[in-house]
Amino acid sequence: MLILVLNAGSSSLKFNLMDMDREETLAEGIAERIGLSEGFIRWTIQGEKGRIELDMNGHKKALSAIMEQLHQTVLVGDREVGAVGHRVVHGANSFVDPELITPAVLTEIEAMTFYAPLHIPPSLSGIRTAQELFPGVPQVAVFDTAFHHTMPDYAYTYGLPYELSQRLGLRRFGFHGTSHQYVAEQTAVLLDRPFDQLKIVTCHLGNGSSITAVQNGKCVDTSMGLTPLEGVIMGTRCGNLDPGVITTLLEQENMDGKALANLLNKKCGLLGISGVSSDCREVEEAMGNKNKRAKLALETLWYGVLKYVGGYAAAMNGVDAVTFTGGIGENSNALRTWVCSRLTYLGARLDAAVNDKRSKVARFISTPDSAVALAVIPTNEELMIARGTLHAVEK
Ligand code: AMP
Repeated sequence: MLILVLNAGSSSLKFNLMDMDREETLAEGIAERIGLSEGFIRWTIQGEKGRIELDMNGHKKALSAIMEQLHQTVLVGDREVGAVGHRVVHGANSFVDPELITPAVLTEIEAMTFYAPLHIPPSLSGIRTAQELFPGVPQVAVFDTAFHHTMPDYAYTYGLPYELSQRLGLRRFGFHGTSHQYVAEQTAVLLDRPFDQLKIVTCHLGNGSSITAVQNGKCVDTSMGLTPLEGVIMGTRCGNLDPGVITTLLEQENMDGKALANLLNKKCGLLGISGVSSDCREVEEAMGNKNKRAKLALETLWYGVLKYVGGYAAAMNGVDAVTFTGGIGENSNALRTWVCSRLTYLGARLDAAVNDKRSKVARFISTPDSAVALAVIPTNEELMIARGTLHAVEK
């Protein structure tokens, strides 16, 4: 079956067409600047790169243009899209598995908008557009929060009045679930050991970053919370803060909720501390040029990652593997060196030469005698969404 995976953002639409008989990507790309001027779509279809400039007033125009390209190339003869899988960022308590989209499911996703006001509306627009363009083709929602639903209550409970948390649904949910699940499973494959007998810490570090403890194949804790703001510092997000910082900002800076949300989501993290960029590569470059705030920003991130790895090793009473993924996790040997060289108390030993070598394949970066396996595994969220979609359709 051919599955089209869609990830709709407010001004973008990512797509990936997968042949699930071979779990192979036939086409992938992104439409950017939807609703803005100078829109464009770029893609790789059967290994060939392409790009068109196109102003798009909404997701419908973007998806129609994408389908036009696919119909001229891969979707020929009797090849057609058998199902569409949508990435949906928040499933809250309602969705813990990929869900075949019915009108009732759509209404329930809509009701969760308050959890992720920036992300849910574009997802809904992507779903409605695909329903319109592919009448009769099954549509499936795959949720970023789903893998984390196995956390014990003491790991997801905040220290708020219990009734208040219950009434408003305030608890840790976690994100990047498809990525954490994928790299944790692949870590077991790399180790050639059963997934359900391992203790793994997965570090998904990119523009958004989260760290997860996976014990016996199940998530037992994760660093992001009710929203993707919690945890380590990110490109522009603040990560953990004393809640007193919020009340201080509200009072001292005369901010309202909207201004505060904008500050915490868009102006903090690597960007806020360094003043250089939200892009880790650029901050590393500035640190190389002796920029002190760039160094401070990076060390704050590295230290945050180190503390989560240690905390999760404690939570699981041991750790078999620590796996890095995401743009930073896969590419920053500086981060991996800093973190892994401070895990000797666990018996972990980094192979510096392997760690420094650039590679795009899943690999160990630990020495053969390391008591904890250290691994770098490129993530593949699209494949997990396609697998989830196939599963829901076959069910
Ligand atoms: P993602 O959100 O997973 O696409 O990751 C994006 C982040 O990965 C950005 O902060 C990039 O600067 C960072 N990144 C990509 N390549 C490198 C690299 N070679 N060294 C350090 N950071 C990198």
